[in-house]
Amino acid sequence: MCSSDLPFHAPGPAVGAVSTELDELYQSIILDHNRRPKNFRDMPDATAKADGLNPLCGDQLTVWLRMDGDQVTDVSFRGQGCAISKASASMMTQVVKGKSRAEAERLFDDVHALVTGHPTGGDVGPLKALSGVSKFPLRVKCASLAWHAMKTEIGRAHV
Ligand code: ZN
Repeated sequence: MCSSDLPFHAPGPAVGAVSTELDELYQSIILDHNRRPKNFRDMPDATAKADGLNPLCGDQLTVWLRMDGDQVTDVSFRGQGCAISKASASMMTQVVKGKSRAEAERLFDDVHALVTGHPTGGDVGPLKALSGVSKFPLRVKCASLAWHAMKTEIGRAHV
């Protein structure tokens, strides 16, 4: 159901040259993260760890997080999945690292809103590349998998 093919060239009415160029840019960002994911490693000294599973697609990720007080000092992930799940995880580790708990939770909300088609206008940095996912409901879980794992860990760190 969820191949490594990206959904952005699904059949449908033409959407105009500008939007197509943007789709191609976003697609190349996603493919690049899929080929060379950032922070793709175990973290032996992590303070939190969570697994993410998306049975609809077969994506399986583990996300590690290290908190120092209120700050996320390191994030990493490992696993296998489609290009969207890996690219989203890779970009998540980049933007969440160094953030406070509140900032990381706000990023979760902004990215979740973006991929479900209700963008908040918040600055999600490179994650904008995932905006096309909202047109493909089955891929929303792929895009948000690592984010849910991260949010679970942040929540646990509250205790
Ligand atoms: Zn997937």
